[in-house]
Amino acid sequence: MSLSSVAQRATALPAPARRARGSVSSGATLSEAFALAPQPERPLRILLVEDSRADADLLVEMLEDELPEALVSVCATVGEALPLLAGPVDIAITDLSLPDAEGLQALSAILATRPDIAVVVMTGRQDRRLALQALSEGAEDYLVKGSHDARSIATAVLFATQRRSANSEAHRYEQLATSLLDAMEASTCAVDGAGTVIAVNQAWREFAKNNGGSAIGTGIGTNYFAVCGEAHGFDIATATAVAAGLQHVLDGELGRFEQDYTCHGPNEERWFSVRINPLPATGAVLSHVDISAAKRSELALAHLTLHDPLTNLPNRELLADRLDQALAWAGRQHRSVAVAFVDVDQFKRINDSLGHSAGDELLGAIAARLSCSVRDGDTVARVAGDEFVVVWPRVASVDEAEQLAQRLRASLAEPFVIKTAKLTVTASIGVVIGRPPQRPEDLLTNADAAMYDAKGRGRGQIRMYTEELNERVATRLRIEEELRHGLERDEFILHYQPVVDLRSRTVTAVEALVRWEHPLGRRMPDTFIPVAEATGIIVPLGNWVLEQACRQGATWAAAGLDLHVAVNFSARQIGHPDVVTSIETALEASGMNPRRLMAEVTESSVLEDAELARAVLAKISALGASVAIDDFGTGYSSLLYLKRYKIAALKIDRQFVAGLGTNAEDDAIVASVIALARGVGAVCIAEGVETMEQYAALSDLGCEYAQGYLFGRPVASGDLVETLRACRDVLAKPTEAAS
Ligand code: C2E
Ligand code: MG
Ligand code: MG
Repeated sequence: MSLSSVAQRATALPAPARRARGSVSSGATLSEAFALAPQPERPLRILLVEDSRADADLLVEMLEDELPEALVSVCATVGEALPLLAGPVDIAITDLSLPDAEGLQALSAILATRPDIAVVVMTGRQDRRLALQALSEGAEDYLVKGSHDARSIATAVLFATQRRSANSEAHRYEQLATSLLDAMEASTCAVDGAGTVIAVNQAWREFAKNNGGSAIGTGIGTNYFAVCGEAHGFDIATATAVAAGLQHVLDGELGRFEQDYTCHGPNEERWFSVRINPLPATGAVLSHVDISAAKRSELALAHLTLHDPLTNLPNRELLADRLDQALAWAGRQHRSVAVAFVDVDQFKRINDSLGHSAGDELLGAIAARLSCSVRDGDTVARVAGDEFVVVWPRVASVDEAEQLAQRLRASLAEPFVIKTAKLTVTASIGVVIGRPPQRPEDLLTNADAAMYDAKGRGRGQIRMYTEELNERVATRLRIEEELRHGLERDEFILHYQPVVDLRSRTVTAVEALVRWEHPLGRRMPDTFIPVAEATGIIVPLGNWVLEQACRQGATWAAAGLDLHVAVNFSARQIGHPDVVTSIETALEASGMNPRRLMAEVTESSVLEDAELARAVLAKISALGASVAIDDFGTGYSSLLYLKRYKIAALKIDRQFVAGLGTNAEDDAIVASVIALARGVGAVCIAEGVETMEQYAALSDLGCEYAQGYLFGRPVASGDLVETLRACRDVLAKPTEAAS
């Protein structure tokens, strides 16, 4: 029989076939009777591989009787069967002794071509071992020729087909489940009710391969609780939490459990979230989701909110937290916490002269130096522009804290190189030590107060906080408050002290000196000028003095009184951007001739920012006013500025004048100041002249001008005429007798 004739014959089979003889009592065919039988939309397609024509006919007949809708194709060899298998076939029934296949060869050849169809072996050999082998190799059934009637053969065919289709359905589901599981990015496993791993996905296997020995590397059959118990890959706390979570989910007490944990890889730290969901009737699904990226951005965000972006140092908020912890620790250990408030001296100047980007670079470099001078566990924070706070959590004594502060100061000693400029930077440092019940804010306030005090003592100073300092701070705050009120309520007045020309013996000028008519009594400048300077109130106060003095000068001039007016300017005023405008305004508003005005500035205010001072003093001179250096000899000893600046007068400080005539050293100092003034084209004004001896000595030394109680005390403008009269009497006395 040729293959084509077989095919033709197969298609030629009559359908519906004849009714079976002597079938079930109802007369129904097997497919009708069988509730289990599929209700196929298409007929069952059977391929019969049988080289015995008689056997084939008999079987076909039997099948046609019982399964009349079935389409049966018949072929005689495996070779003929294979092309037919490429077409629609549901079940193959094969003989075992075929011309081109012996034994189970036919079975394996068919299954190799169509693993999805059912194959039933039908053989003349009653061989139990062969039957078992056939079944184990994939046959759905093993039928012995002659031992079955039509019905049982049809039953076997239907069962085999159904079994096969059920199996492939299950297989399909299994494949679907596996692909779904594998499609999940997270390492995922399923566990049974006892926590034993029953399935894992590809990601799990990959992770296991890359992280041999970690918890996630466990394979099927491993108990997850045991893994947690050994804390593989987890820290103990995470392992305990995860085991408890899994148990709760398995017990139905939790609908879902989630726990984040870190994994320290060889190169980097990674974060995972283990998520456990119940698996109905089975157990649970555990996924280890890699949340490193999210965690990293979360940490970056947290870092950002707690750190200063410029220096990467902790900010005020984190500082408060660290200080809190340090205090709590110190309280338990009976130790102290030291806090230093570090303020860069004259940072504004650097910022203004070199630009903000250089300023930023410098702050970064300062932050790095400070950080290098502390140990792990200490905190360096940036709390404002040029302000840093350092916390040392365990300090035994004030001495130790002071040493630590000295180390901070030393760290800034080397010059900084910023954009090719070499900068010498100093900082004022205030230090406090404390322990509970002191609070973080107390320590910060006190360290700040100490820093403030350090600042007042010049650059690069360290001050330890004391109770006495606290009182000073309180006083300062009170005075500050009162000063503001005083200005509003017009509580200030000016007194004027005569300045005499020792050569012509006439009064040529007056110095304006401010007085505070405080509700509790008159206050002298020494008690409030330092506070006014420190708080900046000196600027409005100074402007008031300036306006007042100019107005008075103009009034005197109008009355025919030819007097110069000296006005004191503090460093803060000279450093103020509006100083020249203020002078101009005061002069214009009063109508006083600018030549009558003398601005008195101290050495320190000139030296604080030499370049700026030079420019300001030049502008003041350009207005027509003159400049005097006040309290000469008490400030820095740099004489360079005398040459560079246009200075009209040096006012010799009264401490040198005091010893004139009695102290040879003072004589020498005053003589050299006079010589120095001449050298730079300036005159000398001796301050604090109280005696005729001093007056005589100054005259002998060739000092041009003098001022002091001898000639007249500072008085209100209304009393000046009286003072000038008395002064003239003094000037009329001969000095020879005194010297
Ligand atoms: P100063 O500018 O050196 O003023 C001279 C100070 O010496 C005045 O003190 C004056 O009263 C005092 N004095 C004058 N002659 C004698 C004397 O013969 N013996 C003694 N023992 N003292 C004498 P005062 O008025 O208390 O002012 C103190 C300082 O306060 C001034 O020193 C000045 O630096 C500052 N000051 C006063 N008024 C102002 C002002 O309007 N603005 C600013 N920025 N500072 C001012
Ligand atoms: Mg003065
Ligand atoms: Mg003075």
